Amino acid sequence: MTATLEDVRALIDRLVGFDSVSRNPNLDLIDFVHGFLARHGVASDYVESDDGTKANLFATIGPRVPGGVVLSGHTDVVPVDGQPWSSDPFRVVERDGRLYGRGTSDMKTFLAIALALVPEMNRLQRPIHLAFSYDEEVGCRGAPRMIDRLVRELPQPMAVIVGEPTEMRVVSAHKGITVARTTVRGHEAHSSQTQRGVSAVSVAARLITYLDDMARERARNGPFAPGFEPPHSTIHVGCVHGGTAVNIVARDCRFEWDIRSVPGDPPEAVLADFEAYCRDHVEPGMRAVAAATGIHSEVLVEAPPLAHEDRNPALDLARRLCGHDAVASVAFAAEAGLFQRAGLHTVICGPGSIDQAHQPDEFITLDQVRAGLEFQRQLVRELSG
Ligand SMILES: [Zn+2]
Repeated sequence: MTATLEDVRALIDRLVGFDSVSRNPNLDLIDFVHGFLARHGVASDYVESDDGTKANLFATIGPRVPGGVVLSGHTDVVPVDGQPWSSDPFRVVERDGRLYGRGTSDMKTFLAIALALVPEMNRLQRPIHLAFSYDEEVGCRGAPRMIDRLVRELPQPMAVIVGEPTEMRVVSAHKGITVARTTVRGHEAHSSQTQRGVSAVSVAARLITYLDDMARERARNGPFAPGFEPPHSTIHVGCVHGGTAVNIVARDCRFEWDIRSVPGDPPEAVLADFEAYCRDHVEPGMRAVAAATGIHSEVLVEAPPLAHEDRNPALDLARRLCGHDAVASVAFAAEAGLFQRAGLHTVICGPGSIDQAHQPDEFITLDQVRAGLEFQRQLVRELSG
């Protein structure tokens, strides 16, 4: 049986129809996928979140032998709140050769294509493994436990293809992301008596300036990783909350910041540098005024970069399937770095454009759907003979 564009289209409709915004459970969608696979004689496993409201799903199609390919994608989408959508984001609408709906590009079309091709996967000599995750959009929280199990239980796959939207370009590197929250505890005083207080707002300002200096240093002197835009790690403070009134020396201030790291510039070094600055240069002065003051940082999100490897079977495979040699790097973070950290050769290649991802009126062109279908069909053929 050969999957048609209409079959893919019907599955995109179904998947987009589940409101799988990261804050919601995704079990409806996962149950649907589980049922769909079961109807085609494929067993699938759930890897649940601690509270049981979400699950990753993985399945093996074909013989349980080494040398297979993992098709990986996330099932969650970003919110639509406050965005001016022209139509219901959770119902696919076709206009001018485009399918509109949340997740059409990022990245339910890739998942829909993999499912639509399951009936064509009946002659596989080497397996295709499906690995569908939750909570990618809120810091790749779901995938690590699925990858752990994959690595323990599956016969060694030769490649992982993560289907994030790249317009079917082959991507061999992405930046990592680390998100941290820094909390400053100062000491309250009347604002006419600043010598008796420790302003958490002023301390935060110093720390933010220090982070900005670190960011500027990287822009000037690297480490540089060609292919990325910008070609160095970035450090950015996104929000600050502090103080209660203009005439009170602020007791509390906190800010959240992220590091988008290039391979070869470990975020741990940024964190260690920052911690040392706090400990050696800022906290002593705070504690000289009030002992109970201090600075505390915690890492909220941590996903490693995908580093380009010259000898990468996943890269060779994806180039062969695409029929060209071009390779790109992307600045956005993805789950590919987690697969690489687990020792698996990984690339990113998927239909749709990152330009449409996270936007109101997110869409995918039918040309991209066709290109994505052709790519995965070639993969099925390659593994079948
Ligand atoms: Zn995505």
